[in-house]
Amino acid sequence: MDADAVHIVATEFGFGLQCHHHPMNVGDIFCREEPCVSIHEADMMDMAMCDDVLGLPVTSRYGKIGILLLKQDCLSKVLAFCEGRQELFSPSFLSQVSIAAREMSDDFVEGADTCSDTQEKYRQALISFQSNAWRGPGDGRFSLYQTICRANHSCSPNALVGNDNGKGTFTALQTIAPGDEIRPSYVSVEVLESSVMERRQVLAQGWGFWCGCHRCMSEASCSRE
Ligand SMILES: [Zn+2]
Repeated sequence: MDADAVHIVATEFGFGLQCHHHPMNVGDIFCREEPCVSIHEADMMDMAMCDDVLGLPVTSRYGKIGILLLKQDCLSKVLAFCEGRQELFSPSFLSQVSIAAREMSDDFVEGADTCSDTQEKYRQALISFQSNAWRGPGDGRFSLYQTICRANHSCSPNALVGNDNGKGTFTALQTIAPGDEIRPSYVSVEVLESSVMERRQVLAQGWGFWCGCHRCMSEASCSRE
């Protein structure tokens, strides 16, 4: 199935993906796509404590992600995506990305507490990458796909994101008609089985949005009654 099977549309959440042209039946695999950015957990493990390009101490997890983004020269691709709402992420994540942005920055000054424009750009890029890069269970990598990563989440997903020889794919979990929005789940099956409150917390802290999918809306209104 060609990449033309889906197209990017404006939705209440910024962007989303819509099924195009023909319906998808359960089990159909569609939209095979190369990632525009791919970071492997193994590359992060391999990274020396001192980055060989900038000659700076890079010790944090997000600092390593940031240096790998700089090495792949893809900051503008990452920043082209909508980032999550900062106030929803966990405070520990936000403090970690601030530290990482300082580590990435060539105007890094030990002990300085001011944030330069460059550091702010790096911080935004790390938040945007966290909000948008696909991290599938057992996949061992973070992949940013120009099309697939525009899909909004649903707690009752109609598609599954997978990986076929390095390419991202959708598999239809339900029949998806032309014009229907394609909505995979960002979270594991275990999280999907938890309560609406728990799911919303996981999505807020990990992706920066408060889930307003149909399932969350109906379960939240039931729990208020
Ligand atoms: Zn939801």
